Amino acid sequence: MALCRRTLLKVIVLGDSGVGKTSLMNQYALKKFSLKCKGTIGADFVTKDLQIDNKLVTLQIWDTEGKETFQNVCADFYRGADCCVLVYDVNCFESFDILDSWHDDFLKKGNTSNHGISPFILLGNKVDIDGGKSRVVPEKKAKKWCASKGNIPYFETSAKEDFNVDDAFLCIAKTALANE
Ligand code: GDP
Ligand code: MG
Repeated sequence: MALCRRTLLKVIVLGDSGVGKTSLMNQYALKKFSLKCKGTIGADFVTKDLQIDNKLVTLQIWDTEGKETFQNVCADFYRGADCCVLVYDVNCFESFDILDSWHDDFLKKGNTSNHGISPFILLGNKVDIDGGKSRVVPEKKAKKWCASKGNIPYFETSAKEDFNVDDAFLCIAKTALANE
């Protein structure tokens, strides 16, 4: 009988410090959330096994963990990434404004195989805060940005409430598999 081989997919998560990157990864892979998670769960990556259609895959999701200015993220981190997840906080305009820089930095340094499929996904996180009353980046604006970058898939998430996290990562896994 043939061995069931798992396909290993590398996913990297980029975005400003504090937007919830570590929290999203931990919520998805470990089903854990902490309001004081900074530095407490300091893994380089988390893994999650899943099945997409008939394919068994392992997502290896890498965290920048404290090196969150793009000048500090080295090419090694980007190398071989099958999907690049960009995260901003819908309550913080600066974290949205800097997405261009993260996006361009990945294109510059990331050496992805070119299948003509965009490796990017955008997550607008922390939609739970104040029931949305303190948000400063409208959904429309985020979608417009995604359209301008060649139709990047967009999800609004809350790592805290576990809202849309599984759906977002399923899309991430499919994108990674398509780029593998
Ligand atoms: P990172 O620097 O991007 O890895 O951000 P963290 O995951 O460390 O999160 C920064 C802070 O925001 C922490 O206090 C988290 O508990 C909090 N946080 C993360 N995601 C959410 C969310 O969806 N909603 C709320 N209310 N807080 C969140
Ligand atoms: Mg972090």
